[in-house]
Amino acid sequence: MSIPATMRAMVLDAPHTPLRLRDVPTPRPGPGQLLIRVHACGVCRTDLHIVDGELTQPKLPLILGHEIVGSVVAAGPGGGPFRSGDRVGVPWLGTTCGSCRYCRKGAENLCAAAGFTGYTLDGGFAEYAVADRSYCFALPPAYRDAEAAPLLCAGLIGYRTYRLAGDAVEHLGIYGFGAAAHIIAQIAVHQGKQVYAFTRPGDHAAQAFARRLGVAWAGDSTVAPPQPLDAALIFAPVGALVPAALQVTARGGSVVCGGIHMSDIPAFPYELLWEERLVRSVANLTRRDGEELLALAPRVPVCTAIETFVLEQANQALARLRAGELQGAAVLVMP
Ligand SMILES: [Zn+2]
Ligand SMILES: [Zn+2]
Repeated sequence: MSIPATMRAMVLDAPHTPLRLRDVPTPRPGPGQLLIRVHACGVCRTDLHIVDGELTQPKLPLILGHEIVGSVVAAGPGGGPFRSGDRVGVPWLGTTCGSCRYCRKGAENLCAAAGFTGYTLDGGFAEYAVADRSYCFALPPAYRDAEAAPLLCAGLIGYRTYRLAGDAVEHLGIYGFGAAAHIIAQIAVHQGKQVYAFTRPGDHAAQAFARRLGVAWAGDSTVAPPQPLDAALIFAPVGALVPAALQVTARGGSVVCGGIHMSDIPAFPYELLWEERLVRSVANLTRRDGEELLALAPRVPVCTAIETFVLEQANQALARLRAGELQGAAVLVMP
């Protein structure tokens, strides 16, 4: 297959500016990299944090997008997994050093030299992307391209957040019912947990959406659930939800923050943390998280709710995400 010299991409030139559609050189795969023809790319809240300047170290100009589904069209020098024609997924964790103490113990999500797709490396809001082949995933065949995209960040980071809450959880709260929550709720319900979905006050559409996925209860984030929670997962970027979740979490329970950025957490009385409650964050993902989630998703089976946009509509997709108007996940699809 012939690869064109240039490709269309939605490019971020500087924070606080809209993405611009531009013809840019098609990237060439370096050693250990694949060149991927992008079929679909998810739009994530992290993309908003980058556009809004809340994540302060982006490569500029930058092609956003870290939930890439595509097919391999060429490989750079060196061996490794995947061949031309294979369908692959590219996640947020784009590459790591492979030799630091975190990488050596399978905690590559904490590598200080990691590269991040669509942030410090160009991502998938484009017709082609290059990716380190060792960090790409094979995707379950049951999912079409656009349906698979949200699994690659909302799913993976959501799954790590859920996993870090521990196995002993019976009553699970989820704050912020967007892309990650709708995937994790299906897994938790499948695994027999009682799930309590918390949304922005008055967001009855999101609450109804959560109920359709089988949650035990759905309500405003300001309201106490019918049962104390064993764990709460927070996917909304709102620091005030941390003390709110602690308030309704049982002794020994944990509050796990799944986002990369959050507004400040307000001061709260020690009493809320007392009795061995735990607050922790989740950073990135490991390849093990990806392999587990992508094996589990088709068995549940997780259905991803998506709203599709063409590449040129990336700014509209971001605006709808910002306004809280999406149910499920926005995905850019290429013709
Ligand atoms: Zn490392
Ligand atoms: Zn993401």
